[in-house]
Amino acid sequence: PRQFFVGGNFKMNPITRESKLALAKTLNDAQIDPSVEVVIAPPAIYLLSLREVIRPDVKVAAQNAHYKPNGAFTGEISPAMLADAQIPYVILGHSERRTLFHETSDLVAQKTRAAIETGLSVILCVGETLAERESNKTTQVIEEQLKPVVDTLSEEQWSKIVVAYEPVWAIGTGKVATAAQAQETHAAIRAFLAKAVSPAVSENTRIIYGGSVTAANCKELSKQLDVDGFLVGGASLKPEFVDIINARK
Ligand code: 13P
Repeated sequence: PRQFFVGGNFKMNPITRESKLALAKTLNDAQIDPSVEVVIAPPAIYLLSLREVIRPDVKVAAQNAHYKPNGAFTGEISPAMLADAQIPYVILGHSERRTLFHETSDLVAQKTRAAIETGLSVILCVGETLAERESNKTTQVIEEQLKPVVDTLSEEQWSKIVVAYEPVWAIGTGKVATAAQAQETHAAIRAFLAKAVSPAVSENTRIIYGGSVTAANCKELSKQLDVDGFLVGGASLKPEFVDIINARK
């Protein structure tokens, strides 16, 4: 049985100390299903201060990392720094990083390997654009995104990966994938892992869905066989994040 996983990706929000503390209070005061792994990813500047105030059963994650441990890379944060600060998770390959910051699948794979070799766990994001879906290329695109990671990781290292399927057309658009669309793609990702890595990795890897997840649509999605949780953007900044964490309750 795969542990249900719910991540909150705050992206470049919130912008004040007060709103950050209000988010922490909402989670701290909530009844959270203890069987769910909950991880929140604030902007890097808030990682340590948020960890100080958040309940201990909620982990914090970085939204990005470089692949080198240190050096002349102005503006970057290294996986070694995150590990030293005892930050357990990092999100890599988010579509906003791929699109707006031109990260290739090879770079994402390089970062993924560095993060895992440094002791971090990785929320690895993949997903197709609307044009790619409409030309029936969804599976192909996702396999191309995963392939460099498959090529660079050992089978054991997959225990440190959570795959987040985030269709680009669903991110921040209010257009959530239907439960059937999510299930179909998650099953395709699982089949690819079985073929490209191993049946055990396919069986054990959490595959979570992201893209316009809300309290209203999370329950049906969470019932799908291959949907092991969510990566939540906009709704993770609101009290309804608690309902999403408790989707299977
Ligand atoms: P939204 O939930 O705002 O659509 O964002 C999803 C996302 O990109 C999470 O990483």
